[in-house]
Amino acid sequence: MADDARTWLERIRGLPLPERVKIMNVCGGHERSITMAGLRAALPRSIELIPGPGCPVCICPEEDVYEAIQVALHEDVILVAFGDMLRVPVNVPKGAVRSLEQAKASGADIRPIASPLEAGRIATENPNRRVVFFAAGFETTTAPVASLLVQGAPENLLVLLSGRLTWPAVAMLLDSGTPGFDALIAPGHVATVMGPEEWSFVVEKHGLPAAVAGFTPTSLLAAIYSTLRQLIDGRRFLDNCYPEVVRAQGNPTARRHLGEAMDVVDATWRGIGTIPASGYRLRPAYQDRDARRAFPSYADASRKRAGQMPPGCDCAKVVLGRIYPNECRIYGKACTPRNPIGPCMVSDEGACRIWWSSGVRHSDAA
Ligand code: SF4
Repeated sequence: MADDARTWLERIRGLPLPERVKIMNVCGGHERSITMAGLRAALPRSIELIPGPGCPVCICPEEDVYEAIQVALHEDVILVAFGDMLRVPVNVPKGAVRSLEQAKASGADIRPIASPLEAGRIATENPNRRVVFFAAGFETTTAPVASLLVQGAPENLLVLLSGRLTWPAVAMLLDSGTPGFDALIAPGHVATVMGPEEWSFVVEKHGLPAAVAGFTPTSLLAAIYSTLRQLIDGRRFLDNCYPEVVRAQGNPTARRHLGEAMDVVDATWRGIGTIPASGYRLRPAYQDRDARRAFPSYADASRKRAGQMPPGCDCAKVVLGRIYPNECRIYGKACTPRNPIGPCMVSDEGACRIWWSSGVRHSDAA
C-alpha cells in the first residue's frame, strides 16, 4: 500500500467512529480496488464496505442478452459485444444456446471488443456485412456509443442498445426507506462524464454523506475518510476525492452527444425490475441504427419480469448490497468462475467474481 494510502488509513483509525457504519460503492472498479488491496481487513471492524449496483453486465436484462443471442444466430450479421457479455447465461431449456459464447461456438459470427471504437473499426473493415453492436453498459460506455453515432458511424453499423444510468439505482434504494447504507462512495469514472452534481441528491434529498472517488486505494480511503468525517461532524456535502479527473459538469462534449443521440427512459434491470428514468433509447433521428428495428423482433415477452436470475442465484441481492457475495447459497459451490450460474460471477466487475479472484472461497450463506 502506498504511503499516502497508509496516511489516510491512520487518519481513519484515529476517528471517533460510530459502533457500526455501512458505506456503499457503486462501481465494479471500486469494488475491485477495495477487495484486491485488502481494505476491508485494514479498516476498523466497525466500517462495512458494501458493493452495490456497479456492474453493468450483472444488471443487463436477460431479455436483452437473449435478443443478442437470437440476432447473432438467425441474422447474417457480425455481432460485437464486450468480452464479459459473451459468457453471461440466460434461462433456456436444456440443450438450447444459453450464451453468446455458445452461439459463437455453434457458428454465429460473434466478436469480442474492448471499446466502442472497435465496433466502428470492424464495421469499416466489413463494408458488405451488417455489424450489430450489443452496447450494454453504464454512462461511460453509452457516451462513446453516442459519440460514435453523432460523429458519423459506418452505414453498416447497427446498435442493440442496453445502456443504463447508475444514479437511479441508488435513488431507488434510498427512496425504498431501507437503503442498507449510511454513506456513499460515488463512481469517479461516471462523474468524469456526467459531472459529480448527479450525486448531489444523496446529500440534499437524503441527508447522507457522499464522496466521489477514483480507483486507487488512496482515493478510495480519502473518500471513506470524508464520509466518516461528515457523519461524525454532522455535516453533509458531496466531496470530490478525484479532482485530478472529475470536473464540475463532467465532459460537456460527451453529455451533448448523449443528449443528441439518446433519450432517457424507464428501463429494466436484471433481477431488480423497472427503475424509472434509468435507461437509454436511441432518439428518432438515429432509429435507422436501431438493431431492434432492422430485424424481426426476437424479444421474448415472458422474459420481461423481475425474477430473471437463474434458480438459486442471489445476484439481485448482491447487486443491491443486501447480501455479500459469499452469502449467496451457491457461491463457490454450484457457482464458480469456471461454471458461472449468475452474471455477478461472469463479469470482471461483478462482486462475486471479484471476491472469488481475491481468494474468498468460504460461503457465509445462512
Ligand atoms: S455466487 Fe453465483 S449464483 Fe450466487 S449471487 Fe454470485 S453469481 Fe449469482
